[in-house]
Amino acid sequence: MRRRVIAGNWKMYKTIADTRAFFSSLLPLVAGEKNCDIIIAPPFTAISTAAEAARGSNVAIGGQNVSWSKEGAFTGEVSASMLLEAGCRYVIIGHSERRQFFHETDDNVAKKSLIAMETGLIPIVCVGETQEQRDSGLTEEVLRRQFIGGPGALTQDEFSRILLAYEPVWAIGTGRTATPEIAAAAHRILRRCAGEKFSVHHASALRILYGGSVKPDNIQGLMAQEELDGALVGGASLDPKSFAALVKAA
Ligand code: PEP
Repeated sequence: MRRRVIAGNWKMYKTIADTRAFFSSLLPLVAGEKNCDIIIAPPFTAISTAAEAARGSNVAIGGQNVSWSKEGAFTGEVSASMLLEAGCRYVIIGHSERRQFFHETDDNVAKKSLIAMETGLIPIVCVGETQEQRDSGLTEEVLRRQFIGGPGALTQDEFSRILLAYEPVWAIGTGRTATPEIAAAAHRILRRCAGEKFSVHHASALRILYGGSVKPDNIQGLMAQEELDGALVGGASLDPKSFAALVKAA
């Protein structure tokens, strides 16, 4: 049985003061929850505050992006060791907003995943098709390409430590959640890719989160699918009560 994960991606929301307020509401609500891994990924500026607030609790902190370089003249970038030092254990890599608005490629995803692993961070690698690609029958091709070019470039050992997130672009921030069946079918494609590239053992141990308009009122149907090992959540992670409700449902 794979251990479930509920991860919140705050995107470009919440100041340091908002972060303190969020954690003081959230922590008592999830204090007894031992059945899943809980992660919050705040903006860079609030990571230290979040890590401080969550110290000793069952909530881990993640970054939302990382540089593929160790250090150097890369204005505006943040390195894996900086994230680690600030208190991160995880880092989201290849989110569709990074691919769409900041032109990140599968090659970037592979390099970022590699440096994250070398530094001791656990990558949460995101893949997913656009509406246009789904409508054109290209979902499997796109997922395979993103898998092979991104996490598929890791070694077996590295791959065994990552989390994968299936996030159809058409479901992110739109309120249009994938049906549990659509999500499970995509997860099966990704698990098949993992089996072909690595091994059956790696495929069955891989934890794949679903992301795209997950809310307290739809999480139960999604989590009823054995294929889904948790959720990566944007909007509904901003409110401590709704995020805690997701954790309890997992
Ligand atoms: C996300 O940002 O990864 C996400 C899934 O957003 P939302 O839950 O708001 O669709």
